[in-house]
Order: sequence, then C-alpha cells, then structure tokens
Amino acid sequence: MAIALMKLPYPQDALTPHISAKTLEFHYGKHHAGYVEKLNGLIKGTEMEQESLEGIITQTAKDVSKSTIFNNVAQVWNHSFYWQCMKPDGGGSPAGAIGDKINADFGGYDRFVEQFKSAALSQFGSGWGWLVLKEKKLEIMKTSNADTPIAHGLKPLLTVDVWEHAYYLDYQNKRADYLNIFIKNLVNWDFVDSRLA
Ligand code: MN
Repeated sequence: MAIALMKLPYPQDALTPHISAKTLEFHYGKHHAGYVEKLNGLIKGTEMEQESLEGIITQTAKDVSKSTIFNNVAQVWNHSFYWQCMKPDGGGSPAGAIGDKINADFGGYDRFVEQFKSAALSQFGSGWGWLVLKEKKLEIMKTSNADTPIAHGLKPLLTVDVWEHAYYLDYQNKRADYLNIFIKNLVNWDFVDSRLA
C-alpha cells in the first residue's frame, strides 16, 4: 500500500499573487511529489508500508541508520501540513479559540507575529517555522531541513516552509518579504483553530 501524494486543497493558481502557480507547480508537483516517490521506494517491501506517516516518523526519528527514510517521510508530512496552513484570502489576526489562546500565551497577536517571523527568518539554511502545542501551551519553534515537531512529541498547529524552493521564484532571496505575506495574506486560521480543538 503506497503512500499517496495528498491532493492540494486549492488550485495551483489559488494563492496568486502571493505565491505563484509556477512555485506550486514545482514545490508541490516536483518537490513534494518527489519526496512521496522516494519514500515509497524506500519502504517498499518493509513493515513500514503498513504504517501511517506519523508512525514512520516516530519509528525512524532517532535511528541514524534510517535517516534517509526519516528525511523523506518528514518532508511528506511537513508539506501536506503546509498546504493546509494556507488559503486564498487568509492571514491577519485570528478570531475564535486560537485568537484567544494566542492572546493568552503570547500577550497579543503582534507579539506572536514577531516571534513566529523571527524564528522562521533566523532558521539558518533550509527548514521550517512552527507554532506548536506543548503541554497545552502555544510555542514557537524552528526545525532544520526535514525535522518536524512530530519527531519531538509536539503537536504542530501552523507551519511555514523556509526552504528556498518555497519562495525563491516569487521573492528570490527575500525570505522576510515571503514571511510577511504569509502572515498577512495566507495563513488558514480556520485550519489552525481546528488543530487546536
Ligand atoms: Mn518545501
């Protein structure tokens, strides 16, 4: 039973002008699809074929001999999650339970934005910026390369991909511009809120 490439929750041009159809064509159609294909090749004929993505992540996270499987499975999970974290006309300050929780745990939306952007911007090289739930409290974190909060027993609520392939076609080297737009125009707070519930 092979792992399937998750279907994008919107058309490839749905996030324009913030993220171009060209970026999604490569990022989803080549990079994400490539991780799925590589993973399927690596787990073929092993017991991991019966596992969920989360199960494979947990099994391989602390075993250096399985780092290639870990890198691919974590990238499959992270990308599937990332697509759901965005929507057309998203972004801005959230209402609902997640809005209240951000105010309570960060002392306001602006403080959250500052910390989230700072973590994502300061990730040296490739990686991910995250909002996670740790022991019922919101926390900001960053991970490098394929690493994922799932491997650390944390619950991801929101992520931004800061590998250059996520923004280079649209923003070139200006990661900060991409992060500003992500926060202002793209975050799918309904999805984040559903993760919190
Ligand atoms: Mn990516």
